[in-house]
Amino acid sequence: MSKEIELLGKLSNAFGPSGSEEDVAEILKKELEGHADETRVDKLGNIFFYNNGKDGYSKIMLSAHMDEIGFIVTFIEQDGFLRFDTLGGITSNIMLGQRILLRGDKGYLKGIIGTKPPHIMTVEEQNKVIPKEDLFIDIGADSIKQAEEKGADVGVMGVFDVDFTDLGGGYFRGKSFDDRAGCAVLAEVFRSMKDSPYNLVAVGSVQEELGIRGARTAAWQVDPDYGLALEGTFVADVPNTRPDRVSSKIKGGPVITILDRTAFTHPTVLKTLIRIGREGSIPFQFKKVPMGGTDAGAIHLTKAGVPSGTVAVPCRYIHGPASIIHIDDLKNTIKLVTEFVKTISSR
Ligand SMILES: [Zn+2]
Repeated sequence: MSKEIELLGKLSNAFGPSGSEEDVAEILKKELEGHADETRVDKLGNIFFYNNGKDGYSKIMLSAHMDEIGFIVTFIEQDGFLRFDTLGGITSNIMLGQRILLRGDKGYLKGIIGTKPPHIMTVEEQNKVIPKEDLFIDIGADSIKQAEEKGADVGVMGVFDVDFTDLGGGYFRGKSFDDRAGCAVLAEVFRSMKDSPYNLVAVGSVQEELGIRGARTAAWQVDPDYGLALEGTFVADVPNTRPDRVSSKIKGGPVITILDRTAFTHPTVLKTLIRIGREGSIPFQFKKVPMGGTDAGAIHLTKAGVPSGTVAVPCRYIHGPASIIHIDDLKNTIKLVTEFVKTISSR
């Protein structure tokens, strides 16, 4: 297994819903501390790795969010079932029947999002999406007391319970490629910059899925000349999708954002990325559906403004239990971002 995939697997399996990103930060720290001139964690949990280069080179901030979509327990029913809310955007139609991994004070807890069996549903109920308010997590407890003994409590958080798997042919399946794919790119690019003249700050940010929170305070501290958010973005090259809604494709190369709901990619950043891709024969594609937002949405509005953009690894089924990625896209994203740092630093 290649080193990029090994790292992606570790990051994908890590437990890290928004607000509980420590395990992901720890993996990045182990990977990068030895390559950094300085490593630190701020008050919100953002982790920073500094490569202090030479004077005269621009300061670049690369940001990948460490958090993943997840769940938070809000109430325990008399008969031990857990009511919950979501952390980040998860639609009700993909939750039913999913395996969930919670982490309480006593360690990990396994469960499933349960509901009425189809046998006792009316036809109308069978075809209806059940709102999350009506769903619950079953951890195998028959009372509040037993649920609490297992470590369940209000405020306990969870994620989809999915293991990283090699599907063959360069395809891999796992949870939270949004944004552990970006974290893997961040790590590989930063590692390759050791002893280089570039002033690079790699940031693992927190709470992106709750509204781009960590990157906001991180960018203020770094005060960069240029910012680039590294992401795992949605792919729609699947059956029954109108051609104009196919935002990006698997094996189409890194996805360059022109516009999303939080930012325009700055023309200098955009032109640099396009030129590097074309001149270096690195395949790339544009994000064609301007939905979603990234850390760039916060970085570009920092202080007097920071020219910023987003480059993402295309991933199928993000914001669901498990996503699919292709190794070529991961490698080409690493290549494009590495060349971007080198080129834009000299401006
Ligand atoms: Zn993301």
